[in-house]
This record gives sequence, structure tokens and C-alpha cells, in this order.
Amino acid sequence: MSTITAKIQIYVSKDQAESLNITTNAFRQACNWLSKHIFETKNLNLVKLNELYYKPLRNLFDLKSQMAQSVMKTVIARYKSAKSNGHEWSLIEFKRPEYDLVWNRDYSLTQNQFSVNTLDGRLKLNFERKAMKKYFNGTWKFGTAKLVHKYKKWFLHIPMTKEYQKLDFVNVNNIVGVDLGLNFLAATYDSQGKTTFYNGHLVKHKRGTFKATRKQLQMRQTPSARKKLKQIGSRENRYVTDVNHQVTKALVDKYPRGTLFVLEDLTGVRFATEKVRVKNRYISVSWAFYQFRQMLEYKAELNGQKVMVADPTYTSQTCPKCGHIEKANRNKKRHTFKCKSCQYHSNDDRIGAMNLHRKGIEHIGVVAERA
Ligand SMILES: [Zn+2]
Repeated sequence: MSTITAKIQIYVSKDQAESLNITTNAFRQACNWLSKHIFETKNLNLVKLNELYYKPLRNLFDLKSQMAQSVMKTVIARYKSAKSNGHEWSLIEFKRPEYDLVWNRDYSLTQNQFSVNTLDGRLKLNFERKAMKKYFNGTWKFGTAKLVHKYKKWFLHIPMTKEYQKLDFVNVNNIVGVDLGLNFLAATYDSQGKTTFYNGHLVKHKRGTFKATRKQLQMRQTPSARKKLKQIGSRENRYVTDVNHQVTKALVDKYPRGTLFVLEDLTGVRFATEKVRVKNRYISVSWAFYQFRQMLEYKAELNGQKVMVADPTYTSQTCPKCGHIEKANRNKKRHTFKCKSCQYHSNDDRIGAMNLHRKGIEHIGVVAERA
């Protein structure tokens, strides 16, 4: 599922603007009135608030039933979100005119116009059609919109939600083993038997530099060194994040819908520090890998693809051709792999990807043939 907020400009006549002004101001004032009561009583229960304030809201501000409900929901939501963001309990003020509209009650779409409920009754409003067009294909759901007056223009902010059809394991038509490491950031092996390397040398080099600088700073132990250390940390993080974005994007773009990506499950070392070595790779596997996985999962889902994680045991020591497992199959220093049993040999980063590919096949059984 994915939610996007569409910000759609609406075009209004003078009279319509007048009605919207009156409505959004009444709504704002009602929100402020209720906010004071909530601030004093600390009561966030909708049912209770309904009992106490529904009638006064309607009478004092001339609100329609639906609007009075929206006021309560809006104010409660703001207090709850302040609370969950860790803010201290304080009075929330609604400074800008606004108005929350429930889909198919306060607003709807008819004949290429928005129909919007106001204190003056329903208005038919023209809108920026081009920006809205892509949401008309039947797959988007309209959420509770916010009517906003900004820069002397009127906008509807509409949360659009789309359910993506998730790829079933039955529909897999391509499997890609993805081996993550520092020599090559990612090596892949797919159902066509093709290997691709996503070069990580640059990243490795940069990280090496960062590491050396950090060591020097750590030894100095002064406040300025500590500050610098922090800066380097976040710069390094941004760099890895950027690389992760690029590689995951390249992966989902390269392969078709129906692709299953197989990664190693390195979550066991998720909280590992930089000192821990995983298959002879020093990386803060912890977050770099975890972030890679989350990015790939997210992007794959949007693309009709899927990600699974496989047990990493012996991934680097197993011969992908004959299945022979032996530590000596792999020469870590030379980054080569040579099977002691069948003599199959290859680059060792490729072996990891091949074995992950095989684990994907074992997991789903047979891969449907691709045309
Ligand atoms: Zn072998």
C-alpha cells in the first residue's frame, strides 16, 4: 500500500471564494474552541467529546452535522500526533483557515468538478485537471482531504492510497540472487545465468578514508574532535544511503515484473558494530544492509517484484554447480572460488549470488518459463 498526498489547485469564482472563506474560518474557530476544552480536560475520547460538544459546536458555529464530526476528529488527531511525537501537553492552536473533508460526504467528484460541502450548501468547483488525471484510473482511493487557502489560491490536499498487487510466489518468473559485499557492493545472478556486478569500489575507498580519519579523531578526544566525528558519521551515512538508493533502483529497473530477489538474512548481525566481520567483509552490516533490504523491498513491491531472505550459512563455501561445501573452496585473499570436488571456479562474489539464486529456486520450486 502506498499513500501520496495530491495537492490540487481549485479554481473558484468570487462568490465561491466567499463561501469557502466563511466555511474554513468557521471550521478553524470551531477547532480552536474545541482545542481549549481538550487542553483543559485532557479528554481525547471521541464518544465522550461527542456527548459533550457536538451540540454546542453545531449551535455556536452553525456547523452541519458532518462538519462538527470532522472538527472533533481533526482536533483529536492533532493532539494525538503531538503526544506521539513526544511533545509536552500544550494548547494547540489552529492559525490558518482550513477544513477537513470526508470523501463522498463533504466532497466528491462529479462531471469533472469537485462537489464540496460548505455552510452555504454544495459548491461545484473546477480544478487543475492535469495534476489530477493520473488518479482517475480506478486504483486510487480518496482519503479525507484538507481545503487549504495559501498564497491567495485554494487547494485540496487529498491523501491518495493505492493497493499494490503483491507478487505471489506462484507468479515468479525470474530469480535474482543478490550478494552484498564491499568488493562489489552487489553481485547478482539471474535465471538467465547472467551475472552483474554493481561496482562498490568507490564506496569502499571512501569508507576506508572515513575510517582512517575517524581513528585519528577518536584518539584526539577533544570536544572539537568529537563534533567532527559526529559530522563524519552523518556524512558517511548519507553517502551509503545514496549508494543504496542507486543500486536498489538499478536492480528493480533492470529486471521484469515477477522477479524474486534473494538476499542473505544478515539480521542476526544487525546490531553488529563495524568491528564484526561478516564473511571477511568489514561493514557496519547492521544498518547498511538493513537499509538496502528495506529499500529493495519497497521498490520491488511497487514494481510487481518480491524480496526474500535466505539463510546465509555456507553461502560463500558452497559450490553452486555440485553443492560441495568446503571452506577451502574459497580463497578469500584472491577473491576466487575453486571447488575442491568438481573444480568449478569463478570469482567469489559471483558464487554468493549463484548460491542465493539456487536458494530462491529451492524455496519456490520451479520457475515459470519466461517468454
Ligand atoms: Zn563443485
